[in-house]
Amino acid sequence: MNNNSSKKNLRIAIVGGGISGVGLALDLCRNSDVEVTLFEAAPAFGEVGAGIAFGANAVRALDGLGIGEDYRKVDDRTPAPWEEVWFEWRRGDGEAKYLATTVMPGMGQSTVHRADFLDVLTTHLPEGTAQFNKRAVGVEQNGTEARVFFADGTDFVCDLLIAADGIKSALRAHVMEGIDAPPAEPRFTGTCAYRGMIDSDTLRAAFLAKGLNTHLVDVPQMYLVKDGHILTFPVKQGRVINMVAFLTDRSTDTPQWPADAPWVRKTTQADMLKDFADWGEAPRTLLECIPEPTYWALHDIAELPGYVHNRVVLIGDAAHAMLPHQGAGAGQGLEDAYFLARMLGDPRLTADNLPAVLATYDELRRPRACKVQRTSWETGELFEMRDPEAGDNEQILAVKLETRFNWLWNHDPASDVAEARARLGWEPQSAIA
Ligand code: FAD
Repeated sequence: MNNNSSKKNLRIAIVGGGISGVGLALDLCRNSDVEVTLFEAAPAFGEVGAGIAFGANAVRALDGLGIGEDYRKVDDRTPAPWEEVWFEWRRGDGEAKYLATTVMPGMGQSTVHRADFLDVLTTHLPEGTAQFNKRAVGVEQNGTEARVFFADGTDFVCDLLIAADGIKSALRAHVMEGIDAPPAEPRFTGTCAYRGMIDSDTLRAAFLAKGLNTHLVDVPQMYLVKDGHILTFPVKQGRVINMVAFLTDRSTDTPQWPADAPWVRKTTQADMLKDFADWGEAPRTLLECIPEPTYWALHDIAELPGYVHNRVVLIGDAAHAMLPHQGAGAGQGLEDAYFLARMLGDPRLTADNLPAVLATYDELRRPRACKVQRTSWETGELFEMRDPEAGDNEQILAVKLETRFNWLWNHDPASDVAEARARLGWEPQSAIA
């Protein structure tokens, strides 16, 4: 940054081109006062071929980042007349007995195919913003600048380094050390998931052949048993059904995943069907339509005591990787991106007040993201009939399932930005978004 009274030429480096890093880069690129460079380890942007769901809070963040319209070009919503349904809940055994419906007012289930979404976003990144094959391996800083080092022997100096490099972040240890906290290594959660996509006509035909109701194909479903649950929702304008089947080993409090075993691998349908042999006909029929599932060992990280060390800031999964049971991980990354985009793009930002601005990010975003991490784990306990209060009591389960997500979805990320501006003594300015 050139001087203390202007943010002209604030040099921002973003490491990691996932949803969080790209979301932030897209917004900052529209601001002529900042120079943004995004470094991605892979040779190109890429996402897995699976669906992702966003809550109303995350869609507000997408709108705030100026990418809501693009999102809506490729998103899917629960079809009429069930527009507001987020999920219907059923037992995973027997006849798939109906338990409850969770409604997200005005939104329902809002989903997208990950690769389609990232494609739409990255086409808007100005030429030259992203550099590929750039794996960050370390960082050092001197109080006003950060220097990030890459595996290819190069480095890059910036005023602010945003680490958006996911759960295995190479830069998180630097922040933890800087704030005197222990390193936060990824933890195996004990939960593994089979994932697959099914052509929806194929699935409808399979359900009809077994006399099952095709409503279960068209409307997002969750099937619950003790220590397992399966979810489905449509993507690609209803042409494809996204499926995730979770099983949790709760035999130990400290589950271990072998250090040399991949977190994601291909597996066989036979192995998957064996694991779900005693489930009901509807979920088994789903699984029979997935010839080549993938198998995921789900990891998270502990709640961190800080996201900022001087000029290095953690966002997205690098800061708060969590279990996916509230469909909220990427949404939290988008809330981070939205907050930082508004604050770093504010004309009142200066070199002098940058540390105070970053402190508001830590003060306002971290408690909420930590709560989402914590409640994501608790939600898995509820789904898998291990909630201490609900257990497998269908009445208590129904009440909790219908109401427990409202605090998460009702949040407006703009209120965090307003609060940050107030804490900084920045008067509301109608001209500032
Ligand atoms: P990532 O997507 O991990 O991106 C990190 C990027 O950084 C990658 O491109 C990577 O190549 C790059 N990178 C890594 N290391 C380096 C390095 N050293 N140098 C340079 N680049 C590097 N969330 C939801 O909101 N809704 C859902 O429905 C949902 N469902 C999920 C289902 C499952 C089964 C799982 C596992 C997760 C789910 N999530 C969901 C969580 C969501 O996928 C993540 O929170 C989100 O993708 C994280 O985005 P990110 O950009 O922070 O990190």
